[in-house]
Amino acid sequence: MTAENLSFDSRAVHAGRGDLAGLGLHVPPIDLSTTYPLPTVDEGGAAYELLSGGGVPEPGQTAVYQRLWSPGVARFEEALAGLEGAESAVAFASGMAALTATLLSRVAAGRPHVVAVRPLYGGSDHILATGLLGTRVTWATADGVADAIEEDTGLVVVESPANPTLDLVDLRALCAQAGEVPVLVDNTFATPVLQRPLELGASIVLHSVTKFLAGHGDVLGGAVACSEEMARQIRPVRAITGAVMHPLSGYLSHRGLQTLPVRVRAQQDTAQVVANWLADRDDLERVHYPGVEGADPAGLVGTQMSGPGAVLSVDLGSFERAARVAEGVRMIVHAVSLGGVDTLLQHPAAVTHRPVTDDAKPGQGILRISIGLESPEDIIADLEQALAR
Ligand SMILES: *Cc1c(COP(=O)(O)O)cnc(C)c1O
Repeated sequence: MTAENLSFDSRAVHAGRGDLAGLGLHVPPIDLSTTYPLPTVDEGGAAYELLSGGGVPEPGQTAVYQRLWSPGVARFEEALAGLEGAESAVAFASGMAALTATLLSRVAAGRPHVVAVRPLYGGSDHILATGLLGTRVTWATADGVADAIEEDTGLVVVESPANPTLDLVDLRALCAQAGEVPVLVDNTFATPVLQRPLELGASIVLHSVTKFLAGHGDVLGGAVACSEEMARQIRPVRAITGAVMHPLSGYLSHRGLQTLPVRVRAQQDTAQVVANWLADRDDLERVHYPGVEGADPAGLVGTQMSGPGAVLSVDLGSFERAARVAEGVRMIVHAVSLGGVDTLLQHPAAVTHRPVTDDAKPGQGILRISIGLESPEDIIADLEQALAR
């Protein structure tokens, strides 16, 4: 039985581990080597050329140097590619490093124009808005993508659910508009458990592995999943710019995938309970969550995305009230990031979306809550006492 024939949940547990029994191991070895012995000068040179050009080593071929290749990180990449339904995945030191390498690969291909749909993650918005990497951006609405495409457009960038409003974009319709231009979908919030953008017509899936995939708040990582042809354009950028994933992070991320389906579903169940409780209160402006009434007008939950996810936002009406609640929680941690086993809450306008221009900044009263694995009763009790302050 090969990993490809297994169900999604079984693949999450077994992918990237097919050779372990033959090695006499139960879990992947952690190889911290920064350099690898070269059998001969010729073999070393050939491997260097292959890897720096974006290729992958043959079994038994030297990996030369960790910045070119790391076997443990490659196990995680194989497993993630399988879950996203991609030929390949390329892992990085962070989600922003993954986006950076992807953008640079488009610039290197002579297609520096990017069409981007707001809202995006604050850092992604900032890197595109500043043009720091030599890209040129046109901001488009989801249904204005076709009109925004130019001759040298190399990428369309979109996030669904979006951060922090949890708005859903119809990805099938958007990919159809993009035509031949590759669409990159930031799938950090949904994870492949709930949404697989490549099946909807996208070409590249981006992850901040830091969030749900690794899932425990102890790994900084990023990845893209795409065709092997595209991966061959992105790996040389990783090799030369050096934003590689550390082997220990590769190990932890690979382990994180094993529990990803159960974590995401359990956290999602609790998020729905908390969202319903918030939506029933009359002292809040609005609950942003695709699972509450009116928040998914296009009916994308159940078609594009199998469930509403484990992140929600609540609009408390004012900056001051949002700040008071953020500072008033006890069990819930007031911290940025999301997707871990513990519930985190933060104020995007004040913190993560600080670099975003005013016209694209989220509402001043919005708090984003990433629901963890605690009991819904404890999360609700904590929010209730913080809201009463
Ligand atoms: C966190 C995040 C990123 C950036 O990832 P890092 O690992 O922090 O570099 C990108 N997109 C989304 C949606 C995120 O939540």
